[in-house]
Amino acid sequence: MRRAVAVLAVAVTASLTAAIPVAADDGGGLVVTAAAGTISARPSVPSIRVGRPLTIRGRVTPATLTKTVVVQRVVNGKWSDRASGPVAGDGAFAVPITPNAVGTYTLRVRSAGGSIVSSRFTLVVAPIPTISIAASASSIALSAPVTIAGTVRPANATTSVVSQRLVGGRWVDRDRAIVNPKTGAYGIVIHPADIATYAMRVRSSGGTVHSTSVRFSTFRKANDAVDLGVARPGERVVSLTFDDGPGAYTTQILDVLAKYHVKATFFVLGQYAQRYPDYLKRELRDGHHVASHSWDHPTLTKLSDSAIRTQLGWTQDVIVRAGGAPRCVRPPYGSTDARVEQIISEFRSSATVLWNVDPADWERPGTGAIVSRVMGAIRPGAVILMHDGGGSRGQSVAALDALIPRIQAAGYSIRPIC
Ligand code: ZN
Repeated sequence: MRRAVAVLAVAVTASLTAAIPVAADDGGGLVVTAAAGTISARPSVPSIRVGRPLTIRGRVTPATLTKTVVVQRVVNGKWSDRASGPVAGDGAFAVPITPNAVGTYTLRVRSAGGSIVSSRFTLVVAPIPTISIAASASSIALSAPVTIAGTVRPANATTSVVSQRLVGGRWVDRDRAIVNPKTGAYGIVIHPADIATYAMRVRSSGGTVHSTSVRFSTFRKANDAVDLGVARPGERVVSLTFDDGPGAYTTQILDVLAKYHVKATFFVLGQYAQRYPDYLKRELRDGHHVASHSWDHPTLTKLSDSAIRTQLGWTQDVIVRAGGAPRCVRPPYGSTDARVEQIISEFRSSATVLWNVDPADWERPGTGAIVSRVMGAIRPGAVILMHDGGGSRGQSVAALDALIPRIQAAGYSIRPIC
């Protein structure tokens, strides 16, 4: 009799939790004959990023065991209900869940009544990685290297990243880089091959996570006598250029150049070319090339389009009225970008000319320092930057007198650019 009571208690619990068949009276009392059902369950993926949906799938056997199943998760050592879903006629179920926290979850599925449970299983929820991005420059000369670099967090979220460029409204893959597994750092060096504004981003190699985008512009420049077409590659030719004049020292510079029968290029400021027309005319009469260094030496990249046009247009007019034919522009401080280049190209003086040898003569480091800096740096195609204006240029005059014979003794010929 005690045994029969115990069996009855089990039967009541089972009938409450699931439709477990209960046998009829076998003549000796109420007896449960059916085994409890089974529930299989597993996640649709063993690991997933936080916030991404997945499905817990499984099967209830027998199919009639329960109409509903509940996914449970271990929280603080106790099983806690999480989500529920219906059981299909064939016993299959699929319960969608979306983990909202990073961690390793221990889960199981129970029948709606609670007494029948599946085996436990684990689900790893990883953080969504972030990829930072920065470009090493916002404006670079065509084909110069620019580095796209950043960090992947967490560092092991992806083993490689792919740079992408926005082309015609679509992100197009460019170059792949390995991610440092310890630091998450990556770096991609590219050499832009066309004049454009580049919008770029970096995606994980899996493709689902990408950085924000960065932009940089490319421009065309010439800073080498070969670029400027006055020397063949490797030819021992250098060019002398004088900026910021004309002024009080221009005549002395011209005298030194005449002494050695050397032609140079003067990048004049329009305001001084207008103020000292005789110096400008002598530069031209002596056979030197005269080109534009703007009207009054602003940073062109900081000016409006119309202000840049004024700087270039007024200066060009002064040179042309004196009989010159300016064919290039040297932006003050070498500061230029794609927008400035576009405006420069509107003028017939289409080339931007920088330099590649800078003795910093304007700092007045001493005649000897100017000479040794130039001689230590010249190479075929060198464009040497010196100054005949902007301050006291006595050192520049003396250095030039020493430099020309040394340059020539080193086997170089000196030709004007532009
Ligand atoms: Zn200057």
